[in-house]
Amino acid sequence: MTIFPVVLLCRPADIIVGLDTAGARWPNARMTKHTLPTTKLPSGEAVPILGQGTWRMGESRARRREEADALRLGIELGLTLIDTAEMYGDGIAEEIVAEAVGGRRDEMFIVSKVYPQNASRDGAVAACERSLKRLKTDRIDLYLLHWRGSVPLAETVAGFTDLARAGKIRHWGVSNFDSGDMKELAGLADGMKVATNQILYNLDRRNAEWELLPWTHQHGIPIMAYSPVDQGRLPKQAALKVVAKRLGATPAQVALAWLLRQKGMIVIPKAVKPEHVRENRAALDLHLSAADLAELDRAFPPPRRAAALDML
Ligand code: NAP
Repeated sequence: MTIFPVVLLCRPADIIVGLDTAGARWPNARMTKHTLPTTKLPSGEAVPILGQGTWRMGESRARRREEADALRLGIELGLTLIDTAEMYGDGIAEEIVAEAVGGRRDEMFIVSKVYPQNASRDGAVAACERSLKRLKTDRIDLYLLHWRGSVPLAETVAGFTDLARAGKIRHWGVSNFDSGDMKELAGLADGMKVATNQILYNLDRRNAEWELLPWTHQHGIPIMAYSPVDQGRLPKQAALKVVAKRLGATPAQVALAWLLRQKGMIVIPKAVKPEHVRENRAALDLHLSAADLAELDRAFPPPRRAAALDML
């Protein structure tokens, strides 16, 4: 009998933590090539609910090795989903991702993004080709429109569709789309092939909860939460420190666990310090009780009225 290593790496907590299986749209966790708990894209493909961000990587030549080492450590710990963009470090972040991934490409789920000004039908294809070269790969697993620009959405979708047909991207999605943008996208031919919306969402930035999250949830579209520790600001908040101390965890872990417990949520903290990488991976093991959640709601209240999506 063959026993796959992935099974051996899977602890019971991996299957339980962060996944609420009550919603019909969010089927039970299933172990896949990824060793972490997963959620499903609309296509049915399982993707890990915790990954690694790369913004600000590639901006300093002196830090390049340290950044690649951090990503490599994360991959060793099972953080095989990496989020990058042509924008980050002017493309150098994508090269650092390639360096970190090395021969482990097939274990990975690589996300990259196209600038809005490059997102015309032909422009998206050309930008993707450049990203593929920097990433030293033949396909991007998920390709996102970084934010909305002046190119008509239908053109961008046409470019993404061409790329998918050519096998250069496996899925496509959007980023920084508010509920109105999502509805507009949904009205286009192929618009509902959108695989995710990557947004600014964390304990301190909860506007998406008013309308966007219920809408994406209803349509089975997972959310990727960026800046999950609010770029290092959240762990400094007193209310978070209190909960963390009581749980024997760190404030960043509480902030991440709060996101990871939500259905259809993929969380992509960026960390270069190895202790941060380890800490973030361990956030998957942290359970927040109803009392913890109520305390967090008092300190970081949900929106009471409609408000525009937070963005950086
Ligand atoms: P973030 O992940 O919330 O915060 C990163 C900062 O927090 C870094 O300074 C990091 O320090 C620090 N940090 C990480 N783990 C920590 C821990 N356990 N304890 C204390 N501090 C910790 O912010 P982000 O980089 O803006 O967002 C994450 C990723 O989302 C990005 O890297 C990018 O891939 C994506 N993103 C997408 C968009 C978009 O428009 N689509 C916008 C922003 C970000 P060290 O690096 O020193 O370890």
